[in-house]
Amino acid sequence: MIDVLAGRLRALLGGRRVITDRQELRTYECDGLAHYKVTPALVAFPHTAEECAAVVRACVAAGVPFVARGSGTGLSGGALPHKDGVLIVTSQMRDILDVAPQDERAVVQPGVINLQVTKAATPHGYYYAPDPSSQQICSIGGNVAENSGGAHCLKYGFTTNHVVGAQIVAPDGELVRLGGRAPDSPGYDLLGAFVGSEGTLGIATEVTVRLTRLPESVRTLLAGFHSTDQAGAATSAIIAAGVVPAAVEMMDALAIEAAEAAVQCGYPAGAGAVLIVELDGPAAEVEAQFAEVERLCRDAGAFEIRIAADDVERALFWKGRKSAFAAVGRISPDYIVQDGVIPRTALPEVLRRIGEVSAARGVRVANVFHAGDGNLHPLVLFDDAVQGEAERAEEVSGAILDLCIEYGGSITGEHGVGMDKAKYMPRMFADEDLDTMQLVRCAFDPAGLANPGKIYPTPRLCGEVPGRHKGVHPAQEAGLAEVF
Ligand SMILES: Cc1cc2nc3c(=O)[nH]c(=O)nc-3n(C[C@H](O)[C@H](O)[C@H](O)COP(=O)(O)OP(=O)(O)OC[C@H]3O[C@@H](n4cnc5c(N)ncnc54)[C@H](O)[C@@H]3O)c2cc1C
Repeated sequence: MIDVLAGRLRALLGGRRVITDRQELRTYECDGLAHYKVTPALVAFPHTAEECAAVVRACVAAGVPFVARGSGTGLSGGALPHKDGVLIVTSQMRDILDVAPQDERAVVQPGVINLQVTKAATPHGYYYAPDPSSQQICSIGGNVAENSGGAHCLKYGFTTNHVVGAQIVAPDGELVRLGGRAPDSPGYDLLGAFVGSEGTLGIATEVTVRLTRLPESVRTLLAGFHSTDQAGAATSAIIAAGVVPAAVEMMDALAIEAAEAAVQCGYPAGAGAVLIVELDGPAAEVEAQFAEVERLCRDAGAFEIRIAADDVERALFWKGRKSAFAAVGRISPDYIVQDGVIPRTALPEVLRRIGEVSAARGVRVANVFHAGDGNLHPLVLFDDAVQGEAERAEEVSGAILDLCIEYGGSITGEHGVGMDKAKYMPRMFADEDLDTMQLVRCAFDPAGLANPGKIYPTPRLCGEVPGRHKGVHPAQEAGLAEVF
């Protein structure tokens, strides 16, 4: 079956844009969550929306599942291939089709790298606001599918607030337009449903984004605190004072240790936590609010405050934060990047409880996160070579998500559910909620071929009676899904 499909796709795309060689296929066996690996049956590289649609139609005709992949930086296994399926990689769809500052819009192909949009808009006095720490490598298509966040989403909102239109290949292979350049369109918000759908409702082939005017002034400070409690209290005090910083980021002692080892960012010595606070906007407003932020940090217990004198120093403040995930490799051979969100005011208490869980299980946890959003990224450290450590790390990681739910938050703040967190969905949602979500998926994808096995814990075929499935599900039997 796959050989026939490979032949069809080669006829469509040419031989160089279809991979079937086992060794080459292994390049695509995982995303940023490298402990799950599945070698796809075939990889295809479309260049245009029409080619992408034709690849999907060929998959549908063959009854073969397909998975979209952008840059493969996802951290929840969303782009994990299907062993009998086609991985449709958009990394060669990298054209910026239009930059229209007069409309505050840009139109891009899905494989365009996030930072490239800002680079294209900057000469016009604009930028693209959502800035995941992976912005130098992740694709706009991946950002749309994950509804990605970033340090500056506190003030500017997530990807969903910056995508106004998309052309997608629906799971039956039809090219469809959702939204457009206008700020709103009538009818159901299908674009809203598509953003964050993790490749289960189709493949974005063109994205229209909102551009944001470059701020007149940007000021950044780095504050050193003795504890995360103090840094958490400073964060709440800043927001309570009516200041909405562009970013408030926190790192605890272990995360600082890792960042220092990796990039020598020179954060305040002996700090139990640091905050990076950035304000942007009209110069006079930033000036006035900056003084207040400084005072609030001192009141909360900051023992050292540095103010970036220029762009070079500002970049150094950010260097430690932006390299933190990878930097943890300096202090631990293996680690899990967890992602959950809680109400901001619960930060000090939840961080304390994470500390308790970590101590009780003997598993180190470094915390680096978007404090302003309450979006936690605990990095759970372990050594896979030591028997039982990986399992203990998994338990701690799951216990942290339970804490997020307990405090009224969510099992993911920005990295998505993917394959990794499907098993946690029933902890957060009732069966009825999950069934309702499945109805949406089935409306887009009745055949269940678009990224199967992701997001939902229980395999379900469209048209089935809702409720938990009893016995072995046909999708399980076919190797298309797994029950947790
Ligand atoms: C060091 C590091 C830092 C990170 N920091 C952040 C951060 O600050 N904030 C944040 O939100 N995330 C962050 N991430 C996670 C990741 O970068 C984002 O989720 C990103 O949006 C993924 O983009 P990608 O192109 O790599 O997508 P991929 O990993 O290739 O795919 C991600 C998902 O999107 C789907 N998909 C990809 N392209 C399309 C398309 N065209 N149409 C439909 N579905 C598609 C895939 O099927 C998959 O489900 C970070 C990752 C790393 C490695």
